[in-house]
Amino acid sequence: MLSIVIPIYNEVGLIDNLVKRTVSALETFVTEYELIFVDDGSEDKSLQSLINWQKEYPCIKILSLSKNFGHQAAFTAGLEYASGEIVGMMDGDLQDPPELFKEMYRKIQEENFDIISGKRSGRKGKSSRNFYTFLFHLLFKNVAVIQNMENTGNFSMMKREAVDAILKMKEKVRYLPGLRAFIGFKQGYVEYIREERIEGDPKMSLSKLFILAADAIFSFSRFPIRLTLSLGLIGTIVFMCAGIYVLVAKMAGFAIIGWSSTLLSIYFLGSIQLVSLGVVGEYVYRIYKESQNRPLYFVKKFYDGKNNE
Ligand code: UDP
Ligand code: MG
Repeated sequence: MLSIVIPIYNEVGLIDNLVKRTVSALETFVTEYELIFVDDGSEDKSLQSLINWQKEYPCIKILSLSKNFGHQAAFTAGLEYASGEIVGMMDGDLQDPPELFKEMYRKIQEENFDIISGKRSGRKGKSSRNFYTFLFHLLFKNVAVIQNMENTGNFSMMKREAVDAILKMKEKVRYLPGLRAFIGFKQGYVEYIREERIEGDPKMSLSKLFILAADAIFSFSRFPIRLTLSLGLIGTIVFMCAGIYVLVAKMAGFAIIGWSSTLLSIYFLGSIQLVSLGVVGEYVYRIYKESQNRPLYFVKKFYDGKNNE
């Protein structure tokens, strides 16, 4: 069986389109499948709309979370509830075309891949958001310890073994595209142009997007802490030189050591220390999150299409 996991947060305006397009895309190549919609605490009528659709398509299952936990948690919840031998992941705003699952499925079945990710060869639209995503991938490519995941996101399909491997990693601060690249297995790509949202505003606010980028960088690279160390070292060297200069100037008797140099050094050292504290703080915060060991999400109800009322 094929499972497709789709997180939904306040998407009532496009659910009709989403269900119809996904169902007709899947029916071209597979007979047995389930659609797992994870309602990530929507405040609009998304859940109601999904329940209505379930009456028409019993292959729809709905996991209703107790509040908004964020889309990485929602995807994780969906993966945990998916029972298919092959599992696909897709955003619920149709920016990832469901028609591409056919090619992903073929590659897994015929070319023996374990994981196929959607690689964005381009993006429609010229929003600042696309620019931030571009910057993130540029930075991530250069600093991360895992490679070959440039321009891939959540859109993907995996064999059961790979899904189980991802689910074995219990970290609370999660960046699924990173975890997917990290686990190994035979990985391949399908290229596509990322569409613009067909309706509504992005549900990942810019601040959520930046937090996700920070999570990705902090959990898959040593860059921030290395940068801090390098800044500290540079600071030390600069101040050793300055120290020698001051001593020489004093001994030579021509020193009027003005306030500007004092002030500059205070600013310089102060800012390096503040930045370093911030970086260390980011790590401490993440360690704290992990040690709390709270569940990633809570389920309010699972509508499995059998005994819903
Ligand atoms: N989403 C979610 N929880 C959230 C934010 C978003 O489940 O807290 C869902 C959203 O409904 C959509 C998908 O995650 O199906 C991707 O969200 P969005 O399009 O806002 O992200 P972007 O395309 O900007 O990465
Ligand atoms: Mg989107």
